[in-house]
Amino acid sequence: MADLENFRADTRNWLEANAPSGLKGSSFSELEGTWGGRKWVFKNADQEAWLAIMAEKGFTAPTWPTEYGGGGLSADEAKVLRQEMSALRLPPALIGFGLTMIGPTLLRFGTEAQKLEHLPKICRGEIRWCQGYSEPGAGSDLAAVATRAERDGDDFIISGQKVWTSYADECDWIFALVRSDPDVKKQEGITFLLIDMDSPGVRVKPILLISGKSPFCETFFDAVRVPVANVVSEINAGWTVAKALLGHERSMIADAFGGGGGPKKASSGSLLAGLARKYAGTEGERVADPVLRDQVARAEMETQAFGLTVARSRDAAKAGHQPGPESSLFKIAATELNQKRYELMVQILGPQAVGWEGPGFEEDELDVTREWLRSRGNTIEGGTSEVQLNIIAKRVLGLPD
Ligand SMILES: Cc1cc2nc3c(=O)[nH]c(=O)nc-3n(C[C@H](O)[C@H](O)[C@H](O)COP(=O)(O)OP(=O)(O)OC[C@H]3O[C@@H](n4cnc5c(N)ncnc54)[C@H](O)[C@@H]3O)c2cc1C
Repeated sequence: MADLENFRADTRNWLEANAPSGLKGSSFSELEGTWGGRKWVFKNADQEAWLAIMAEKGFTAPTWPTEYGGGGLSADEAKVLRQEMSALRLPPALIGFGLTMIGPTLLRFGTEAQKLEHLPKICRGEIRWCQGYSEPGAGSDLAAVATRAERDGDDFIISGQKVWTSYADECDWIFALVRSDPDVKKQEGITFLLIDMDSPGVRVKPILLISGKSPFCETFFDAVRVPVANVVSEINAGWTVAKALLGHERSMIADAFGGGGGPKKASSGSLLAGLARKYAGTEGERVADPVLRDQVARAEMETQAFGLTVARSRDAAKAGHQPGPESSLFKIAATELNQKRYELMVQILGPQAVGWEGPGFEEDELDVTREWLRSRGNTIEGGTSEVQLNIIAKRVLGLPD
């Protein structure tokens, strides 16, 4: 315990001395976070410096082993680091699918060569990863993936299409599920493959949404040559790897929308009471409208309770426990809570929540509108709520198919 308190003091001093002063006290929005990669453009010099400083120390991936670029911290030390960053209101130096999805998966299933090749680049924010799971005919029924992988010597030749690939146009590598054996039970003929997006034959087409943005892409593979050495785990054993990664993805989503105890996306929960006071007025410190006050208090309490539950599970995960079916429970709870909070915020803002851009709306108001629209996808991405309920019914409650 004394060791941990020493670590806390050292960490606080180190953060005080090394964090760019412009970042201290900043609130963090995912849209402004550093995703890294070859195409990444830093928003400012502080953001760039912060990534370099934290990566050098191994603090972008605090619990990963030092030989792969991590910090080699224990679960307790990593928690202290998060707490101290939170106390200074410092944003994470790096976010993204490398740290939250493919990194933990490689640590568990990757070969030594794959770990040494990819993990340090993830920690330094040099390579940005995207996820090539969904296809036009394989979403909830993910095991139906049809992108073909045909063996040719030491390579696979990949042909097919992925869809809804978030930020594929900004990413350098993709982890993909491919059909390596079409003649066996569908789950048994899938391989988990790492593909360099610069390989000849990879083409990315952004999907333009009504918001005018393109967060998704279609990703096409036209006879793309990929070394067999890029298979994670065994050929045709990709389904096990895919499910393990989904556990990390669901935990990451739950964590982003409510996990307590660390620097993360600005919590919509903490925004809520402030907005209620500002737009509905106050009686002393309290929100004036008693019905709204009750709604806000309930949402805040649910957020707190959920944050504590996720923090407990995160401690278990950091101590080496792999996410199990409980990640489905968290994913449903977090995403529905996030949607509820944004519905409430839009209700509070009234007509000020109908803007998209232009005069007459404050930037904070436009942020609420955008995040509210974005939250609609929360119950779809990473597996829909209906699919999570099926998993809970089967694997948590033990109900028959
Ligand atoms: C914001 C966002 C980001 C995403 N990013 C990525 C990404 O980076 N990479 C990637 O590969 N994919 C990504 N996706 C895709 C996502 O994983 C799929 O949209 C999701 O798995 C659902 O698949 P689908 O869209 O094909 O819907 P479908 O599977 O066609 O489902 C349609 C509806 O039917 C319901 N349904 C289907 N099967 C069942 C069942 N057995 N029981 C009950 N109900 C069922 C679903 O719940 C849903 O309501 C993203 C999606 C979103 C919204």
